[in-house]
Parts: sequence; structure tokens; C-alpha cells
Amino acid sequence: MEAPFPSLGKDTARTELVPLLRATGAELAALYARADAVRRAQCGDAVPIRAIVEFSNVCANDCLYCGIRASNPVPVRYRMSPDDILAAVRQIAAGGTAGTVVLQGGETPGPSDDDVAALLRRIKTEVPGLAITMSVGNRPRDVYARWRDAGMDRYLLRFETSSADLFARLHPDCTLAERLQCLRDLKALGVQTGGGFMIGLPGETVEILADNVLLCREFDFDMIGIGPYVPHPDTPLADEPNAYANDPDMFFRAIAVLRLANPDAHIPATTAFDAVFPDGRDLALRRGANVFMPNATPGPLRKNYQLYPGKPCIDEDASDCARCVQTRLRALGRPVAQGPSHSLKRPPMDSST
Ligand code: SF4
Repeated sequence: MEAPFPSLGKDTARTELVPLLRATGAELAALYARADAVRRAQCGDAVPIRAIVEFSNVCANDCLYCGIRASNPVPVRYRMSPDDILAAVRQIAAGGTAGTVVLQGGETPGPSDDDVAALLRRIKTEVPGLAITMSVGNRPRDVYARWRDAGMDRYLLRFETSSADLFARLHPDCTLAERLQCLRDLKALGVQTGGGFMIGLPGETVEILADNVLLCREFDFDMIGIGPYVPHPDTPLADEPNAYANDPDMFFRAIAVLRLANPDAHIPATTAFDAVFPDGRDLALRRGANVFMPNATPGPLRKNYQLYPGKPCIDEDASDCARCVQTRLRALGRPVAQGPSHSLKRPPMDSST
């Protein structure tokens, strides 16, 4: 299939995307069908499974929307030990469905950078075959390089919004320019790189949303994670509703347009879709998304990693989530992808995974 928007230039692109982001009725149905067709042509029907282990809820930062920001009274701050993380990773491998483990946590002061490197080496040695994605925020380029050399295959770092002003308002600890530099560093190092954004941050306009999609295209990300902003009652944004609170279709228009503008990126149906819409992740998979990311964090820790309220799967454990994903995919008629499902854009640095 010919890539959508083959001639999309930076200057004209926004005017092409905004009408799609306002589609209703038959036009909206056509948008969803087109996104699903592009997903099928570019990614196939098989769904890569990436199991997430939220290994630390310690964070030095104070992003205004985040439930585990440093200033929040989270009942328990935890860091899983390397042995406990290894045990969770072994359980993922034994389950046989996930080809990737995603290790996610707050920014420093979680485990030290050297501890993470040692952990990566242990996983690659003791649980070979799983790809490893890290997601722990901004780090210096030399740290990313060390982790890559220790076995890290991929890195997720959402830029959250392409608006420098909005970013500055929401992130007291870093600038958009710094975040984008981290993403450039990761790409330059040959790490499969994932960016993404929140849909409907307070102050976001449809034009900013279009620019978010276009920034993903400009970076040519291997993976793109987007999800609805959900106000957390313990944060300074508690009373600031999603910009599209009265138009929940916007969450799905965003994922469909994202697919059209980024045809061969891995795009997960993120958990936040379930928080705002019944069966939201299933709908996302039918409207452009191609990846599922079940939670594999040990059950008792989950309630302490609530980035936003209403996060699903808080009372389940890893095996519940693994079963659930298979049931959901069966209902959608989509098989589970085998193997690590690396980037569709470029070969991995090391084919041992
Ligand atoms: S969004 Fe990430 S960096 Fe920001 S406060 Fe939350 S865990 Fe920390």
C-alpha cells in the first residue's frame, strides 16, 4: 500500500491533519477504516506483546500531572531488587506470549545507572530471547550508550507535548529541548527509540495535537505511545479536565491519524485508553494501534504506581493480565506475534535478541 500523505511537507501538514482530527459521522468511520487498513498492510494482524514491569516508583521530578511525582504523598515508595526484577522477567518469558520486557520507573533517584547496566546484563544472560525496553526518563547520552552496550534494545521517552510553552508549564524539571535532545541521542546511538504524547493536556488545542503527530513523524520513531491525559486528584492539575472531555472520540481520532502519518511505527494500545473508555484498548487496536502492553508488575506493588486515577489492572497479577490479553486478542481475531518484534523501520543492532 502506498504510504499515506507521501508528500506531506512540514508546512502544509498541519492543515491536512486538523480536518481529520475534527472528523465526525461517516468521515470518522472512514478515518478509522483507513487507519486499520494501513495498520494491517504495514504491521500485519499479529500483535506484539510487551510486558511492563514498573520496577520503581521513586522519582525526583514533579511533572504536574503525574500521580507518583516527588511531592505526592504516595503511600509506599518502592524499588524492586534486581532479583525480584529477574523473577518477574523469568515469569514473563515462561508465559511464552511476550517477546519484550519493558522496564519502567521514575527518573532518578531510582536504581543507579550502574545497577541498571548490571541488571541488563543479567537479563540478557539469564533470560535470553527477550528484547529489553527501558523507560526511565531523561539521562545523559553516555548512560544510554552504556545501557545499550549492556543489552538494552529500545528506549521509550514520551515528549508529552510538542508545545514548548505547554511543556514548560507542566514540567518544572526539564525543557522540551532537553527531552528532544535525549531522543536525538538515543536515535544516534542506534537504540530503537519510542516517543509519544498525552492527548488532551489542559491547554492543548487541535493544532497542537496535529503538531504532536507531526513531531513523531519528523523523528521517524520506531515506537509511538500516546494516551489520554487523565487528571489525578493529588496533583496540581486535579481540577483541570482533559481538553477533549466532551469529545472522547478525539482519543481515537488521534491514534488513527497517528497511524496514517506514521504507517510503519509500532503503536501500542496504551493502558490509559481503558481508563477513559470501556474496552478502550480493544478499540485502539481496531483504529490504528498494533501492540499490546500488559502489566507484569507484581500485584502488591501496582497500587503504588498510579500515574493517573482509574488505572486498570491494579488488583490483578501478571498471570491474570497475560490471560486477559489472550482473551481480548482472540475476541478481536488477532494472533499474538512471535519473537521480539523489533522495529519495522530498521534492523536491530544485535540480532541475538
Ligand atoms: S511523569 Fe515520570 S518523570 Fe514525571 S514525575 Fe512522573 S514518573 Fe517522574
